[in-house]
Amino acid sequence: MASAPPLESSTLIGYPPPPPYEETMGTVPQYTPGPMPYPPTDVKATQPPYPPQAYGQMYPPPPQGQPVTTPVVSVQTVYVQPGAVFRDAPVQVHCPACTQNVITQLEYTSGTLTWLSCAGLAIFGCLYGCCLIPFCVDSLKDVTHRCPNCRRPLGVYNRI
Ligand SMILES: [Zn+2]
Repeated sequence: MASAPPLESSTLIGYPPPPPYEETMGTVPQYTPGPMPYPPTDVKATQPPYPPQAYGQMYPPPPQGQPVTTPVVSVQTVYVQPGAVFRDAPVQVHCPACTQNVITQLEYTSGTLTWLSCAGLAIFGCLYGCCLIPFCVDSLKDVTHRCPNCRRPLGVYNRI
C-alpha cells in the first residue's frame, strides 16, 4: 500500500530544518540588557578630568631668548652723610635700612655729662634728690638720632 511520504521528505536534503516557531519568536524582538560599550565608570577611569599634561601647561617655563634685564645699580651704602652733623636737633639724613631720606627723631639718654653734673651737685651739697636734676634735663643728656621708620640709630651726639 502506498504510504504517505515521510515528513522528512518536505525538507530539502542538505539544509538544516528551520527552527521552530517558538524559538524564532523568542529571539527576535527581545531586548537583552547587556554591558554598555562605554559605561560611565570606565570613562572616568580611563579619562581623568585633569590630564597630567595640563599641569605642565599651567606653569610654562620662562621664555628663552629674552635676557633678564638687570638694572645696573651700584649698591653704595652710606651710613653717615658727609654734611650731616648730629647735634641736639633733628637732622635730615639717608637711612641705609629704609633707603630713604628721613628726619631723625631724638632720643635722650643719660651720658657722661649727665653723671658729671649729678656728681658735681652731690659734691656741692645738693643731695636728697637735687642731684637727680640732670637726669631730667635734656640739654645735659646725650642725643641718639633714630630713624622714624625703622627706629634704627643713625647717629649719636655726645655732650662730652
Ligand atoms: Zn630707617
